[in-house]
Amino acid sequence: MSGSDQNTEREKFSLFLQSGGLKLTSERLIIFNEALATEGHFEADDLLVILKQKGKKTSRATIYRTLEILVQAEILRKVCLNGEAVHFEKTNDQPRHDHMICRNCGKRYEFHLPELQGIQNNLCQRYNFRMQDYCFQIVGLCTDCVEITHEQRN
Ligand SMILES: [Zn+2]
Ligand SMILES: [Zn+2]
Repeated sequence: MSGSDQNTEREKFSLFLQSGGLKLTSERLIIFNEALATEGHFEADDLLVILKQKGKKTSRATIYRTLEILVQAEILRKVCLNGEAVHFEKTNDQPRHDHMICRNCGKRYEFHLPELQGIQNNLCQRYNFRMQDYCFQIVGLCTDCVEITHEQRN
């Protein structure tokens, strides 16, 4: 992410905090900076580990709370991953992708399916439903694991 993008997101964050009567404390800013510096998706606990390694003082509770605020401010979004802890990613990492997850080895494939949006819009229209989020994933076996299970059978 370029420096100017980060400034825009920071402005968004500070305005959002202001509107809720909250302050951009140094602790929140540290968490914000670290979240935006992360590539791909991450868990709250990943941030905790990184911040500890860097000698920054923060608590798990503050990280969780701040990440929730960042989701509400639409700077981060939650990623839907099968049975795993909540993952987060930056909303401006466009386009949104979904996952195929191997049940055996945990390998994840990321894909972007533009057709999905049209299908969702049609569905929501039919039920007069206002969509805020969705969760789509395919769970199964990757090529390697299909071969292993196949060999075991023979
Ligand atoms: Zn696998
Ligand atoms: Zn992903």
